[in-house]
Amino acid sequence: MKIQQFAVIGLGRFGSSLALELMELGYEVLGIDRDEDVVHEMSELLTHAVIADATDEETLRSLGIRNFDCGIVAIGDDIQMSILATILLKELGVNQVVAKAISTLHGRALTKLGVDRVIYPERDMGVRVAHQLVTPNLLDYIELSKDYSIVELTVPGCLNGKTLSEVNSRARYGCSIVAVHKPEGIIIAPTAMDQLRQGDIMVVIGSNENITQFEQQVV
Ligand code: ADP
Repeated sequence: MKIQQFAVIGLGRFGSSLALELMELGYEVLGIDRDEDVVHEMSELLTHAVIADATDEETLRSLGIRNFDCGIVAIGDDIQMSILATILLKELGVNQVVAKAISTLHGRALTKLGVDRVIYPERDMGVRVAHQLVTPNLLDYIELSKDYSIVELTVPGCLNGKTLSEVNSRARYGCSIVAVHKPEGIIIAPTAMDQLRQGDIMVVIGSNENITQFEQQVV
């Protein structure tokens, strides 16, 4: 089932940025925060923004929270509030519950409550920025498992004009270029004859070890 409606509980830095991006992507977003100023600031920007205490069961019920496809508990600092709001979303039957954790123990508690996904924005951003700092051409990466990732790398000058068969990343480094973003569009599953241009973005899949070798020797 495609998610259409999101309820974001807590419109702090993380919650408000998430809510605004979901709006930008064309979804309906209900924002809930107990802080009047925060809600006023967001009221024009979200589908609905409501001043409410997310630990008040009756209020959540009256907002029809159970009809939302996904509820995101974006309260971090106040762990007690985060846990109480999460319990209520689960009990009231929100289909998918996502919650932000500020520590591993907080995350473990949320997992025990049965949330579908725990996110650690500060920890994950720290890891992401570290990768980007040591690999200047790295734009983004997704960890597929502990050992395997997909990364987006900017094509450096030394690969300008080379075909994928000349780069030969699979045989030389054990990782595959699975897509190339070019100014004129994206090539999914490029062929051996597709050419790279400096500044294109290549999407590379492989083991972390192989990707690192590829980054260090080629990129
Ligand atoms: P961030 O680090 O992303 O800014 P915070 O934990 O500092 O996150 O902010 C969380 C937001 O959640 C604040 O705007 C706060 O007013 C709101 N909040 C905290 N507890 C509740 C609650 N029980 N009900 C509704 N909103 C809450």
